[in-house]
Amino acid sequence: MSLPAGSTIGIIGGGQLGRMLAMAAARLGYRTVVLEPQADCPAAQVANRQITAAYDEPAALAELAVVSSVITYEFENVPVGAASALAAKVPVYPPARALEVAQDRVSEKTFLNGISIATADFHAVDNDDELTAALKAFDGSGILKTRRMGYDGKGQRVFRNMETGGFAGTCEAMGNVPLILESFVPFEREISVIAARGLDGAVVAYDPAENVHRNGILHTSTLPAGIRPETAQAARTAASKILSALNYVGVIGVEFFVLADGSLLANEIAPRVHNSGHWTEAACIVSQFEQHIRAIAGLPLGGPDRHSDCVMENLIGDDVLRVPALLTEPDLMLHLYGKAEARPGRKMGHFTRIKAIPGKV
Ligand code: AMP
Repeated sequence: MSLPAGSTIGIIGGGQLGRMLAMAAARLGYRTVVLEPQADCPAAQVANRQITAAYDEPAALAELAVVSSVITYEFENVPVGAASALAAKVPVYPPARALEVAQDRVSEKTFLNGISIATADFHAVDNDDELTAALKAFDGSGILKTRRMGYDGKGQRVFRNMETGGFAGTCEAMGNVPLILESFVPFEREISVIAARGLDGAVVAYDPAENVHRNGILHTSTLPAGIRPETAQAARTAASKILSALNYVGVIGVEFFVLADGSLLANEIAPRVHNSGHWTEAACIVSQFEQHIRAIAGLPLGGPDRHSDCVMENLIGDDVLRVPALLTEPDLMLHLYGKAEARPGRKMGHFTRIKAIPGKV
C-alpha cells in the first residue's frame, strides 16, 4: 500500500540532501519533519517542522516515530541502534542493515566481495605493526583510511612506493581508531551509479556519472561517462545486485573505480541519495530525490532515462561568488542550500549545465 498524500515523512539529518528530499516530498504531496541538532538547518528551511535534537536522543527519536508514517535519513552515520529501535515502531528505509554494512569500510568490502563484487584488496589495521605488514603485502603502496566516519577523503593517508617499516606513530596520528589499508588502485576514471529499489522489489538504475574529485571533495559529475556500454551495464548490474542483497528500499549511490581494461572495482556504497546524483534533477524527469521518496512511500518508481547530457559542478566555499555570472547562462540549473556562511570546503550549492544528447530529437 502506498503512503497517502498528506502523510508525514521523517528525515534524520538536516543538510542539503535532507533539504532536497523534503522538496521532492512536498511535490508529491507529503509533509516532512526533520531531526537535526543544528537550528535553521538547510532541510528545516523547506520542511514542515524540525525536531532540534541529537540524532540518538531517545525522546526526540520517539517523537519522530510518533509523527512520521515512514522514516528515512540523509547520511549514513545514523546510529544503527537508533535506526533499529525506530524500525520496531514505524517503517525505516533504507533498512538498518544497509547502514551497518556501509558504516565500516571492512564490512562494506566484505559484503561486496561476498556477493561477487570486486573491490580493492584490503587489510584491517589496528596498530603500526599491522600497518607495516599490510604495506609489505602491497609492495609499499596503499591508502590508509579510517574504517568508520570517513567522508570527502577525510581521515586518509596515502603511501606510495614506500619502504615498509618505520611507521611508528601512524596509527596514533590517525586517532587510534580502527583503520583499513587498501591497495592503491591505478584507476582510469571514477564513476558512480545511482539506483533505487521500490517496496515491491522493482529496481531502476540511472546511467553512470563520471566523477572528478578535488581535495577529496566531488568537483564534477559528467554524463555520459567516458566508458564503454559494457562497463556502464556492469556498474548498473552491480548496483542492482547490492540493492537486492540488502532487501533495500530507497536510493543508493555506488562508487566505482574503472580500470584501463574497463573492469570495475567498487569503492563505496552510500545508503542514501548521493552528491554524484544531483545531475538527475536537471537531466531526468524523475530526480534521485523524487525517486527516493517514491520508493519509501511505496509509489511506482520513475524512469531513469536522461533527456539531456550534463555536467554537475559543486559550489564549494567561495565558489558561491560565481552565482551571478552562472545565472546568465541559459541552460544552467542552480541549486543553493540556504547555508549562511561560505566556509572553505563547505558545500554551498551546485549547478548543472545541460546540453542536447547528440542525435536525439
Ligand atoms: P573515499 O573516501 O574512499 O571515497 O576516497 C576518496 C577518494 O580517494 C576517491 O574518490 C579516490 O579518488 C581516492 N581513492 C580512494 N581509495 C583509493 C584506492 N584504494 N586507490 C586509489 N585511489 C583511491
